[in-house]
Amino acid sequence: MTLLVQKFGGTSVGNIERIKAVAKRIALCKEAGHELVVVVSAMGNSTDELTNLALSVSKTPPSREMDMLLSTGEQVTISLLSIALNELGISATSMTGSQVGIITESAHGKARILEIKTDRIKELLKNGHVVVVAGFQGTTLGTSKTAEITTLGRGGSDTSAIALATALKADSCEIYTDVPGVLTTDPRKVADAQLMTTVTCDEMLELASLGAAVLHPRAVEIARNYGIPLVVRSSWDNQPGTTLTSKEKRSLGKEGLELSKPVNSIELLEKQSVIGLSHIPDQPGIAADLFETLSEGGINVDLIIQSTHQGNSNDITFTIAEEDLKRTKLLCQKLIQRLGGNLTIQEKMSKLSIRGAGIMGRPGIAAKFFDTLSKSGINLRLIATSEVKVSCVINAKSGNKGLRYVSEAFDLKDKQIKINPTNICNGEPEVRGVALDPNQVQLSVINIPDIPGSAAILCQSFADEGICLHTIVQSERKYESNGKIISFTMNKDDRKNADDILIPLLKVWPQAYLEDGKAIARISAVGAGMPVSIGTAGRMFRALANANINILMIATSEIRTTCIVAENDGIKALKEVHKFFKLASK
Ligand code: ASP
Ligand code: MG
Repeated sequence: MTLLVQKFGGTSVGNIERIKAVAKRIALCKEAGHELVVVVSAMGNSTDELTNLALSVSKTPPSREMDMLLSTGEQVTISLLSIALNELGISATSMTGSQVGIITESAHGKARILEIKTDRIKELLKNGHVVVVAGFQGTTLGTSKTAEITTLGRGGSDTSAIALATALKADSCEIYTDVPGVLTTDPRKVADAQLMTTVTCDEMLELASLGAAVLHPRAVEIARNYGIPLVVRSSWDNQPGTTLTSKEKRSLGKEGLELSKPVNSIELLEKQSVIGLSHIPDQPGIAADLFETLSEGGINVDLIIQSTHQGNSNDITFTIAEEDLKRTKLLCQKLIQRLGGNLTIQEKMSKLSIRGAGIMGRPGIAAKFFDTLSKSGINLRLIATSEVKVSCVINAKSGNKGLRYVSEAFDLKDKQIKINPTNICNGEPEVRGVALDPNQVQLSVINIPDIPGSAAILCQSFADEGICLHTIVQSERKYESNGKIISFTMNKDDRKNADDILIPLLKVWPQAYLEDGKAIARISAVGAGMPVSIGTAGRMFRALANANINILMIATSEIRTTCIVAENDGIKALKEVHKFFKLASK
């Protein structure tokens, strides 16, 4: 007998007809012999309606009272669905988050799940019941040991479902929704987006802006960490939908179901060289030329960074394996003869990376990584960030020291430390999906001192205010007084707080100043096969060049290539890249 956790979202239970239809579907599944735990959202828009009611009484309702109010939405659905199931002759019992024993942190409105007590559910399942659980809510014991209702944050029912599946060791967790699954890009922007049959959890996390619309990102993190199969499919047909997969297989430990320690490994990659091309022309097609030439030469490029440019020239920096250095050098020299610019090469470099789910969503993690390195006196040559990995390129001679200090800082055990790991990839595509994030702004701190600690201080200051920096890029070019540029993007909403955070910093660095970039869009191509395919980045740049789109910034990570383009070019860029990688439906 298989144990399934099924979750039905707000639209799927939006009215009585739909609740009855969902009940029929559950009844069929039960009759087919499955054990079922069903998680539901509040009906339709009722969470919004409840929120509006509260806001019509007060602009700043206490968060405890908001949780008390919002948790009633799901309570309506669980009882109605259980009534509908019983009417169909299926024994069903509804339970609130507190009744189940979904224990959370005390942070009202955004509580993370610590553990789930499964005894009561298991007892009901044994007696043949379908257990209908209220999503999005839990309970905390509070400081005074008094139970308090908490909610997990908007969209949190997905997280309730996968957390239950994890605690119950279910065979699968199915998220039923009003779309057929996860698509290769946003269908509102690109009409011929296609359904993905599978996607890895890491890819899904990297496709954040795409994924978040379909699934709560915290649900993906849980599925990733514990390796529970997660399926997204339509409530209205029997199509298989999209399956999210993960190779991780943690077991539930003491640190809480939604991990308080998200870093799960550290990697040191040795024998790397950093190639810098500076003062090359800033026009569409240059990056494409460069990386196509390298890929024709069979050279697998790892990180690529292109920082903001002043005047009309660009700097592009990338890393390769030392064994490819000679050939790379020759190819780059030829290119520079044709285009102009300077070539710099740094040998004997290493890449140190931390890996885990949702790293960039927890702004303190990258900051702690950079800070640990700077306290060990290690200068960061390049930085690459992504949702699942943060990397720094450092001098090879600091590699082991960095590895040791960072492992200690994140409390990593021997088996979590990997030296020169090989990329294994089981036929995964180089690009699985493409996402556009139009809600970012770009900022640069210019002339920041080139000494250990600058990046750490910058990231820490933002992290202290809970602001996540994305696409952090540290330039090659040196400015007056030997300073460098660190550019980064952040959510538009966070921009207004950035000045306050930076003012004290700029006092410490009197020569440095802040510059706002042009309006941007961030476009990312993501694929688990990217690390083993040569030339993916070059192909993405070519797609943009063909459409005459200029790339303002490039930042790659293991399974993601991100380009920052002018805001107006965003949708066009998305369409071109989607088409170029043949993701469109035939
Ligand atoms: N009802 C909650 C919301 O609308 C939780 C959920 O549906 O996932 O955010
Ligand atoms: Mg949802």
